[in-house]
Amino acid sequence: MNQQGQFRAMGVVLYRKDISASLRTLYLWCRLYGPFWVFAPGSGKGKLGRGMTEPLTWGEFHLYRSTKGFYLKAADSRDDFWWLRKNPKKLREALYWGGLLRKYLLPEHGEDKLLKLFYWSLVLLREGEYLLPLRWRFLWKWLGLRGEAPDLWCCQGCGRISEEGNLAFSPQGTGLLCSSCLPGTVEVSKEDIHVLHELRKAVMLSRKNFHNGGFTLLPSRWEKYTALLEAILRDNS
Ligand SMILES: [Zn+2]
Repeated sequence: MNQQGQFRAMGVVLYRKDISASLRTLYLWCRLYGPFWVFAPGSGKGKLGRGMTEPLTWGEFHLYRSTKGFYLKAADSRDDFWWLRKNPKKLREALYWGGLLRKYLLPEHGEDKLLKLFYWSLVLLREGEYLLPLRWRFLWKWLGLRGEAPDLWCCQGCGRISEEGNLAFSPQGTGLLCSSCLPGTVEVSKEDIHVLHELRKAVMLSRKNFHNGGFTLLPSRWEKYTALLEAILRDNS
């Protein structure tokens, strides 16, 4: 990012940190520019409405770059996801995703496809109640953009495709294996097949059909599998 002076960028507030009553810093994530810190007035006076500095607010940001850093002058809200602030469970989920992005995104490195994925995942979150299947979907697609998502159709050991889903996670949780490739006498169980069908469904369904998915896995199971994806993110970052 080498622009000096004024410019505009579309994006989202990922994180806010108040320095004093009149000054706050925001971690903005913008199209083309990636994530970066900006100084913003904290009082809510002037051109910048207070709501525009809330995490998960999307819009067009009017920025100024000096030798000391980036400054936010004004912003036009495009989608403030206000509904999120009324639903604590969904707000927690969205902030959780935002926290992972803040942790693993490379500063000042454009990630436009992921930015788009984040936006549409939030839209899905707004529309339904399947929070954990949605977390799995978001993380799997995020890893997919990095070329690191576990293959849900092929055995990681022998490469054989299993349409029926006769695969189970390896003991290390890094990928799926068929009965021949699982260690020792471990075999793919009926439960494993059911799990894989749910995991596949969560990533395959279109946005329109996602909330008709009829997901049946227990929350603890979804947490177990989303944790595997988070471990891949962590270990490869
Ligand atoms: Zn195999």
